[in-house]
Amino acid sequence: MSRPDAVVVGSGPNGLAAAITIARTGRRVLVLEAADTIGGGCRSGALTLPGYVHDLCSTVHPFAPVSPALRDLPLGDHGLEWVMPEAMFAHPFDDGPAAVVSRDVAETADRLGADAGAWARVFARLAADWPRIERNVLGPLALPRHPWAMARFGIDALQPAAGFARRTFRDGRTRALFAGAAAHGMVPLDRSPTAGVGIVLTLLAHVAGWPLPKGGAGRLTAALASYLRSLGGEIVTRTAVTSVDDLPPAHAVLCDVGPRTLLRIAGHRFPVDYRRALERYRYGPGVFKVDWALAAPVPWRNADCARAGTVHLGGSLEEIAASEREAWEGRVAERPYVLLVQPTLFDPSRAPGGRHVAWAYCHVPHGFAGDMLPKIEAQIERFAPGFRERVLARAVARPADLERRNANLVGGDIAGGSADLRQTFARPTWRTYSTPVKGLYLCSSSTPPGPGVHGMCGLLAAERALAEVLRE
Ligand SMILES: Cc1cc2nc3c(=O)[nH]c(=O)nc-3n(C[C@H](O)[C@H](O)[C@H](O)COP(=O)(O)OP(=O)(O)OC[C@H]3O[C@@H](n4cnc5c(N)ncnc54)[C@H](O)[C@@H]3O)c2cc1C
Repeated sequence: MSRPDAVVVGSGPNGLAAAITIARTGRRVLVLEAADTIGGGCRSGALTLPGYVHDLCSTVHPFAPVSPALRDLPLGDHGLEWVMPEAMFAHPFDDGPAAVVSRDVAETADRLGADAGAWARVFARLAADWPRIERNVLGPLALPRHPWAMARFGIDALQPAAGFARRTFRDGRTRALFAGAAAHGMVPLDRSPTAGVGIVLTLLAHVAGWPLPKGGAGRLTAALASYLRSLGGEIVTRTAVTSVDDLPPAHAVLCDVGPRTLLRIAGHRFPVDYRRALERYRYGPGVFKVDWALAAPVPWRNADCARAGTVHLGGSLEEIAASEREAWEGRVAERPYVLLVQPTLFDPSRAPGGRHVAWAYCHVPHGFAGDMLPKIEAQIERFAPGFRERVLARAVARPADLERRNANLVGGDIAGGSADLRQTFARPTWRTYSTPVKGLYLCSSSTPPGPGVHGMCGLLAAERALAEVLRE
């Protein structure tokens, strides 16, 4: 493309959402991607044995069906099919039944004994409020369109998850169930706003579910790319941008990169105070990821776990909180909190001959170079004895492997930078998507609303570019 109106650097979900938002207005958009394949944190491919499809990064997509950036796109016409597990997430214990979150608030609450009323009160009310608060929850700090609904959400969401769970639920099992969702945020559960992570993810389980793209996460990326091309957009892979000075002239440049890369490729154009602000941006713990090819499904001791797409392995709230604190402070937990996803129970197309795949990770210190495989598998065996006997092959990705595949994953941090209280709102600075350079924007998960496959960072950055420099 010789004279694009906009250039997007990086083809992650936010880069593609930004490109689509601009291309839909009839403008010419060029996307440049460093890797061999498009999609950034939303890709699938071979990792173990022939015929087994693994998700290289994201696998379960709670945000995608509700995101204003994605939900109205004609992705079904471009090959995307969602698969919805019977239950959204399960949480096994060393004894007794597992806790299970399904789409239905009442069905979930009914299984929670003493906490049935509390669960229904919190989530039925928030689910009803969701259409009024979604733009504020999935965007930068702004005046709420529905202040009362947003205040009801914010009072709880801004708390630390551990305190919120202890005050709201009486049973240790319900507290642990909530902690399992909150710990996705990679921030210790005694810090704000981890309750918000738990509330939003649980709420989305009730509002629209935690679906998986049929055939692998890469199908979502393929559908986004196909739609972008149908709008005239062009994507070029194997093109790492090392300086914005080398880009073809365009009115707008949107960077689906983290602050570190932004400094590398555009730092020479920034005033010193903005450069310093980007340098101060903090990254958090990394992840240690394992993918398995399995001869048979995970042999859960508690059969309810086989109804869920995602299973949180971490025992009690206290155990999960300790695991997250260890990773945050540079140590590893003996029994780490593990997130496990079992796609083939609901989508047999991902493995040949009725066999299975599983995907899991735990949080580890930033840049951790050790081996967590034995601890992750021990944690699975704790709730699924005999798991190891079903393993046909495994692939491990340490923080350095993840960062090698995608420069945005600094030290293995999959959140694009710590999502603690300050960096939830001032992400990466108070300027959010804008930079001091006219026409140069940031559109990655290092901007609000942060990590997850929702494309909102891309949509919001593109809307700003359309309003400021692409008006003609
Ligand atoms: C292991 C893992 C598991 C995850 N699990 C989930 C999950 O289950 N559900 C969920 O919703 N989210 C999940 N996430 C988070 C989600 O993947 C990210 O939040 C999301 O991908 C961020 O999108 P993005 O577009 O901002 O950046 P990315 O997806 O990181 O894409 C950035 C792209 O920019 C490219 N790039 C970087 N620098 C340059 C350069 N200089 N020149 C050209 N191209 C460049 C990169 O190669 C990459 O393709 C997971 C992430 C990881 C890593």
